[in-house]
Amino acid sequence: MLKFRIFWGIFISSLVVMLIATLSVIWVSSGISRQKVRQELEIYTHNLGSIIDRSGIDTLSAIKVFPFRITLIRPDGIVIFDSGAKASEMGNHIKRKEVQEALIKGAGSDVRYSATLSVRTHYFALRLSNGQILRCSYDVDTVFSGVGTLISYLALIVLVSAFISCIAARFIARRITEPLIHIDLDHPLENDVYDEMTPLLERISSQQKHIASQFEQIKGQSEELSAVTSNMTEGLVVLNAVGEVLSINNSAMHILGAENTCVGHSFLAVDRSDYVRQFFEDKSGAQSRSSEFDRDGKIYKVFFNRVGSESEIHGYALIYIDVTASRQAERQRQEFTANVSHELKTPLQSIIGAAELLESGLVKDTDRQDFYRRIGRQGHALLGMINDIIFLSRLDEGKARESMEDLDIGALSREVIRALEDKAKAKNITITLEGSCTPFFGIYRYLYELIFNLSENAVKYGREGGWVRIILADGKAGECVIRVADNGIGIPLADQEHVFERFYRVDKSHSKRSEGTGLGLSIVKRVALFFGGKVGLKSESGKGSEFTITLPRKEDKTTGA
Ligand code: ADP
Repeated sequence: MLKFRIFWGIFISSLVVMLIATLSVIWVSSGISRQKVRQELEIYTHNLGSIIDRSGIDTLSAIKVFPFRITLIRPDGIVIFDSGAKASEMGNHIKRKEVQEALIKGAGSDVRYSATLSVRTHYFALRLSNGQILRCSYDVDTVFSGVGTLISYLALIVLVSAFISCIAARFIARRITEPLIHIDLDHPLENDVYDEMTPLLERISSQQKHIASQFEQIKGQSEELSAVTSNMTEGLVVLNAVGEVLSINNSAMHILGAENTCVGHSFLAVDRSDYVRQFFEDKSGAQSRSSEFDRDGKIYKVFFNRVGSESEIHGYALIYIDVTASRQAERQRQEFTANVSHELKTPLQSIIGAAELLESGLVKDTDRQDFYRRIGRQGHALLGMINDIIFLSRLDEGKARESMEDLDIGALSREVIRALEDKAKAKNITITLEGSCTPFFGIYRYLYELIFNLSENAVKYGREGGWVRIILADGKAGECVIRVADNGIGIPLADQEHVFERFYRVDKSHSKRSEGTGLGLSIVKRVALFFGGKVGLKSESGKGSEFTITLPRKEDKTTGA
């Protein structure tokens, strides 16, 4: 912790400084005192020497107390007097440095150190007028030998200093750290701290602004991305290198039945399907793979993509596409082709059969006309079916070759009624037109086919002496509403949802008799869808049917449907 580091730093360094200072003071003061001793020793030796020169050697025995140790040495080195020891027991001093110097120069000095006693002895020797050497010496404790006596003082000084430096260190550490602890990094420039901090706080502030702007930018980008991905109809899942979910969009959650909480967890916890495991276990190094699976009645195609190089995988991107519609369309196309070939075969076989019989000459002359009529009728049926198929495939393309115009649906309905007049008369059926609607912007042929197919069915499946009503109206939202009702045979409930399918017929035997192709209502539905409309059916077996077509009006009439 910073506070403790500052505290210990100050405390220890102040302690060290204080120790060094104390020892230095001791060292210097002991040096000064040694110097002083040397001077005093020299002065005393000179004074004593001149007293002995004047009054003789006996003066020494008169002196009771010597401030220094006094030794009197003959010129041959024999000690004749010593104030600290018996002169006779002392060795010859001729070789002593101070004695030698005094003999030669008149005065000499030396300092000798005794390691055993830890004492330093200062000597000063002076040659007297009678040639004898007067030597004064003084023992001085070394700095370290004095430590013993100093130690208690030193310990006291150290203790007091340690206490003071401890308090001072605590105070300084707190003063330094306190403003740092309470610093408001969210608003760096609003802090009232010491001046030295200002450049740092300014840098923090400018970096914060920089980070904030970058964060805003990243946030914006990620919001944009999630807005795009969440509105995607395709499912998108992004995984990291170890297969954990980084992001999953709404569509993918819906398809996989997962929730947002799966983010951060292994994708295998979301989808344990074989195709997922196979992909993760795939060692072929393929960058992308695809697979199809069924879920909740829908067919999905999933594309797995490895993100990264062959040697290093950074993650995975999984894209789910709902291919139900295209697969169904494919299936419908296959069924349609099979149905078309089957439906075309029947009239063709009948034409070929009749032609072969005519050719063989087996047909009686009286029957020939009948055969020609049958061939003609079947030929027309064939042509009608082919036209219907061509019309339907054009509608499937979704693009109209014909131009759009404002159509009077009433007039168009009257034309249909006219075209069906004979058929209706043959069954004694009355066709009426009721109501009206504002002109509809559409394609004449498409609308004609729509109303014609509905009305023709109403006549075809109408009862003898029955009625057919074409009712026109404008819907609540301004749509064009066309209703075709009859009191014919009706459609059983089970068949109602299928009658708009291609080639679907309720009663095959009856339909055959009534020359149906099974394409009429699918054309009606396709036309309605082409204009963005819808079809409705209300029917009851034996009572009649009512088809309702609702076509929205286009706001913009400049473009096609
Ligand atoms: P079709 O050429 O057989 O009439 P559609 O597609 O027009 O083919 O009609 C499909 C089937 O719906 C018909 O075969 C018929 O059984 C039934 N259907 C259509 N319109 C009516 C109606 N107005 N009354 C009773 N049944 C109908």
